[in-house]
Amino acid sequence: MKPYFAYIRVSTARQGEQGSSLQEQRDAISSFALRNKLSISLWFEDRETAAKSGRREFSRMLAALKRGGASGVIIHKIDRSARNLKDWASIQDLAEAGLDIRFTQESVNLRSNEGRLTGDFLAVIAAHYIRNLRDEVKKGLRGRLKQGIYPFAAPIGYLDQGGGRPKRIDPLRAPLVIQCFERYATGTVSLRSLERELFDAGLRSKNGKMVRINRLADILRNPFYTGIIRIKRSGEVFGGVHEPLIQQSLFNRIQSVLDRKTGAKKIVHDFLFRRMISCAGCGHSLIGELQKGTVYYRCHNRACATSVRHDKVEREVWSHLFPICLSREETEQIEQAAQQMEASFKGIQAKQLRAIALKLENIKHRLSRLTDAFLEGDVDHALFGEKKLNLLQEQQLLEQQRNSAIESQPTSRAIFDKYLELLKTLSLSYQSANLSERREMVISITSNIKAHRKNVVVELRSPFREIESAALVQHGGLRRDRPRTFLPKVLKLLQKHAIAANGNTPMRSSAQADPKSSDA
Ligand SMILES: [Zn+2]
Repeated sequence: MKPYFAYIRVSTARQGEQGSSLQEQRDAISSFALRNKLSISLWFEDRETAAKSGRREFSRMLAALKRGGASGVIIHKIDRSARNLKDWASIQDLAEAGLDIRFTQESVNLRSNEGRLTGDFLAVIAAHYIRNLRDEVKKGLRGRLKQGIYPFAAPIGYLDQGGGRPKRIDPLRAPLVIQCFERYATGTVSLRSLERELFDAGLRSKNGKMVRINRLADILRNPFYTGIIRIKRSGEVFGGVHEPLIQQSLFNRIQSVLDRKTGAKKIVHDFLFRRMISCAGCGHSLIGELQKGTVYYRCHNRACATSVRHDKVEREVWSHLFPICLSREETEQIEQAAQQMEASFKGIQAKQLRAIALKLENIKHRLSRLTDAFLEGDVDHALFGEKKLNLLQEQQLLEQQRNSAIESQPTSRAIFDKYLELLKTLSLSYQSANLSERREMVISITSNIKAHRKNVVVELRSPFREIESAALVQHGGLRRDRPRTFLPKVLKLLQKHAIAANGNTPMRSSAQADPKSSDA
């Protein structure tokens, strides 16, 4: 007699399934075969969840049985084979075709009419049971989502903590995910080079492999990192209770970068003004080139004939930087005055907080009105989802603004200090800094470098532009002996911009927050 197949199915939804582990099923089948003097030639094993049936081995086994590969099959219990009635019908077909189907736990003889009736009955109960289980699981998932808990495997950068608890930040991978967002936001790296960079920095997938471009794109598109759960298939969104990794403003900016697919060009040479000079003729970035030892920045659009020498650009940039350099004494005076004025920051902060609280209250009302409208049937599902997403994003943004307003005193202060530090160190360190430090200085201070044919125009960004004009208006030249009104003016400008920059861009790093760096 030909040997038998054995079929095992384990489910990860274990409720009410004691005695059904892989090993227990295996043991039961082995001893059943021994008792009945049957030999087993091949084992088939399926693993599945209640919500989803993955039954590749079952189908393979059916095909092999149809080809006559065995006398029959030994299965632990009917409910192992008949999670749905379609599968049960396939088993019935096999029995009718003369194959011997055995169950270790039920003495059902599928060759007799009575046995078939019993088998049908047991199969219907099993199918009913699994449908119920599936509903329960779905209900459980929705319940979790409504509580703001993501009920599936944690996205990279987070760790699972068991079903009922929010995802925890993965201390190893989260910094790399943040790096991914921040680096991509600069617009100077492609996903391709980011893939390598993050791998070198230690980012690995769950099975220890390189995290590929498509995965990185998924990460950059996933609002989970800003605290919002989105179910991709249904488009539904839920406010998550897990701690966000990424500010909403950074996330939004990246979405537009991804939409435009800009900044994906490969960097070959590292020139000081790489991708910083735009062509006045066509708007493209000039490309740095080395020609006989001299660096040129050239527009690749031939019609423009724009090509400027590196030293010309540098001279032009320096002519704008020089008037705004401050001496040590000057920065000290400004610092002292700033401390006296710091009290006024507090008033502004309280005002901001009140305004944000009002807006948050308003969003809460709108959310509940929207839900009512949806339940009444006034709004369809798609529109509801879209509006809800917008409101949740707005809410997220406001909450982040509130947090940064609370920290605003030290942060405004930090931006202020950074401006001041830049002004102080400009004259000392611009010439001695290395290429990337100089690049950073120029990016921090200029907003626009434009070239037309052989000419360059440099514009400073706020507040340096205003400081420059204050310096030039006073005495029209590159001189250091400042009139008395100059320093108070600088102080005011710095404070105004520090507060504005802090209010607009509640971010880790103000250099990253600046829109210029994303286009640079
Ligand atoms: Zn051009």
